[in-house]
Amino acid sequence: MLRRFRDLALLAAMAAATCTAHAAPAATAERGGGKGPAFEYAYLPPVSDGLQAIHRRVRDADLLRQLPEIQAVDGMFSLPLRLRYVTAECGEFGAFYRHEQVEVVLCYETLRTLYDRGLEYQAALGLDKAAPLHYVRANVRFILLHETGHALVDLLDLPVTGRQEDAVDQLAAILMLRFSALDETPEQVIGNLRMAADWLLSRSTGAYNLDAYADEHALGEQRYFNLQCLIYGTDPEGFAGMVRAGDLTAARAATCPAETRRVSRAWVRLLMPHLAPGYEAYREEAERYLEDTTTVRSRSAAARPVSRPS
Ligand SMILES: [Zn+2]
Repeated sequence: MLRRFRDLALLAAMAAATCTAHAAPAATAERGGGKGPAFEYAYLPPVSDGLQAIHRRVRDADLLRQLPEIQAVDGMFSLPLRLRYVTAECGEFGAFYRHEQVEVVLCYETLRTLYDRGLEYQAALGLDKAAPLHYVRANVRFILLHETGHALVDLLDLPVTGRQEDAVDQLAAILMLRFSALDETPEQVIGNLRMAADWLLSRSTGAYNLDAYADEHALGEQRYFNLQCLIYGTDPEGFAGMVRAGDLTAARAATCPAETRRVSRAWVRLLMPHLAPGYEAYREEAERYLEDTTTVRSRSAAARPVSRPS
């Protein structure tokens, strides 16, 4: 069961974090303990009457401090500025990173929309009554980690080629696989990611205009399959059923183990130089992990056979 986690680069690279991130139950997750600038958290009062209840709920629950992955990376990096996470009324569905304010914003409208989709998800799969809130929480984790990715790219001036949206989707998946809460089983961790994938798919229309093709985001279906590929790539044997169920095509699945490893190694390579003091053990693990290129090459070769001249 643990093998899928062992395959992940961040696990290998940041093995020591298990103790830190898993030291406290999810409900009382604490900061990772590093010496980078601590995140700030705020729950801004909304103006609209219809959002007051949501605001009270997330404020009273201190939602932002209950997200295990965010807590795990709080203080992990030597950021030049303090990063703030806020919940706010935005006037529309969304979440975003604001460069000028150095803050990640989660809109109250997003929580409401996710809950509605969670109700549909519950009905479609015949799940219990707790499912809609699980759905909201899983997606909030993915969305905020995606925005955290944008923040890290900006604050650490990380190089990204290709679409940044794809890169930060990858980081969100890696962090969710790596820094889940102590009381979550591997099945629950994967379940959270699949709820995030469901949300990406739920926004697809199947028919697009030029604006959609030109957008900085990949199409919802593509983001869905990219996420499925990263899940599958962690444990192809364990997730063989995904291919049988049509969650992933066989052709894409063949490349997913190498793809998962490649993106994990890329993020480790990008983030390692920015680890805050207190994370020396992570750095040593990361260096050992990156030095181990044998497996990468053999796996890549297996995924894409090279024809030899006869
Ligand atoms: Zn984005």
